[in-house]
Amino acid sequence: MNLSSLCVGPFEENCWLLHDPARAEVVAIDPGDEAARIGTAITRLGARLVAIWLTHAHLDHIGGIEGLRRAWPGVPVHLHPADAPVYARGAQAAALYGIPFEQPAPADHALADGMSLAFAGETFTVHHVPGHSPGQVAFVSDAHCFSGDLLFAGSIGRTDLPGSDPEAMRASLVRAAAWPPHLVVHPGHGPETTIGAELATNPFLTGAAQVLRRRG
Ligand SMILES: [Zn+2]
Ligand SMILES: [Zn+2]
Repeated sequence: MNLSSLCVGPFEENCWLLHDPARAEVVAIDPGDEAARIGTAITRLGARLVAIWLTHAHLDHIGGIEGLRRAWPGVPVHLHPADAPVYARGAQAAALYGIPFEQPAPADHALADGMSLAFAGETFTVHHVPGHSPGQVAFVSDAHCFSGDLLFAGSIGRTDLPGSDPEAMRASLVRAAAWPPHLVVHPGHGPETTIGAELATNPFLTGAAQVLRRRG
């Protein structure tokens, strides 16, 4: 699997492209904006888009969906159903920020905790890690973790937004603190990191690891 990313839109969101060169297929994680730029990147790989996986449904993660669906009709969108209301309010939220936004058609497939998604010879386990949003998930394989807005290099996602739940966020971070330290974290915003680096330096994950140790 080859991996690349584009930083898109006013919220500088990371859209991750998982590329299977053998099959000339791409999965896009969180195509948040600038569908044309994302589409060009996929075309330059000589590939076609076969699925959209969403870590959660905040408007900065879903604004590029409709544009990509025009280029690749019928490409399925995968979302945890707890974020369906957030997804449906995308245009409303964008209007509050005064930014242009294209409301995507409803998602096609429901993600669930523990579900496996296979792509390019890798298996990704879906971890439901609410707190930043009710339907936030992480896609975790043997080597990679797509963390959305759960975990960033040196920080975590906001928990003061409508639908956020600081208590649930704490529980989700305890879960993340148990993930293998070698996992490369590809977050929804900012630079990549590893679980190990965050366990060492990110106070939110350090604190979560202490809770984990106290539990034994
Ligand atoms: Zn978010
Ligand atoms: Zn975000």
